[in-house]
Amino acid sequence: MMPQVPDLMLEMLEKQYGAAEKEKILAGFVRRRVTLRINTIKTDFQAVAAELDAAHIRWEAVPWYADALVLPDVREDAVRALPMYEKGEVYLQSLSSMIPPLLLSPQAGESVLDMAAAPGGKTTQMAALSGNGALITACEKNKIRSERLQFNLDKQGVKRVNVMNEDARQLSDLFRFDKVLLDAPCSGSGTVIIEEGEPPRRMTADWLKKTANTQKALLKKALTLLSAGKTMVYSTCSILEMENEDVLRAVLPAFRAEVVPVTHPMMEHLPLLPVKIPGTVCVRPDEKHEGFFAAVIRKNK
Ligand code: SAM
Repeated sequence: MMPQVPDLMLEMLEKQYGAAEKEKILAGFVRRRVTLRINTIKTDFQAVAAELDAAHIRWEAVPWYADALVLPDVREDAVRALPMYEKGEVYLQSLSSMIPPLLLSPQAGESVLDMAAAPGGKTTQMAALSGNGALITACEKNKIRSERLQFNLDKQGVKRVNVMNEDARQLSDLFRFDKVLLDAPCSGSGTVIIEEGEPPRRMTADWLKKTANTQKALLKKALTLLSAGKTMVYSTCSILEMENEDVLRAVLPAFRAEVVPVTHPMMEHLPLLPVKIPGTVCVRPDEKHEGFFAAVIRKNK
């Protein structure tokens, strides 16, 4: 089958990474294994492992995150059929998308803004990481998606989250937060599965430019709303410099903000692509991981 990767993306990947690396990236655009996050608000590792064992579903631990499991032999439907899924005890979530909350590490009592939150994988993960104690504002522009977000929060037993159905660029500049997650809308260039013929959405030069402008506007708002001296995370499921490093380069200087190099143990285990800003993370797509970018950013006082 001909690869369903748009010519523009092929060109951009080759320019950014070189021909050999581009081929390796394309080889990683395969159907990914099912992965889930154990919702520690409602259950624990032992209980989930026992239910999977009883259902004869093989699971593997993830070395950098005790709450994550890989299920190498099943499709998502098999998980959706389990009582623990219906009870919100597990959340189907890609491994790469578990990275930003771990880097942000929200604590009980902290005010956290999740700027582009639906369907809520990272919101619920942040609630769980903080023992349901972080005060999270979850913003989502799309009404139907914000309803889905609220549904997922309720199902997962999340407390102290306030959902705002708004364009995050319009949030009042008077707000201040201890931490901000900007999991920005993007091209999805890291999530391609060639076998399924899924091209990234609307991948034209104009659309990409518009998307990068939105990402910059959202990052400016994120840094405006972040308290001085505090940290935020910027992430996308894109592996294109234009949506990642270029966005940081365009916005950070005006806020006296800087990248804080990621030193989390995950760095020893993740498949990584070269990055243009040292200390940021770009995950190479493979059978377990979507391509993904994340950066920790500190707003200096
Ligand atoms: N963080 C989510 C999660 O982990 O489940 C995924 C977020 S998805 C990458 C980006 C989301 O941002 C979409 O739901 C989209 O509707 C929303 N969005 C796009 N532009 C926005 C804006 N200006 N303000 C708020 N949300 C926006």
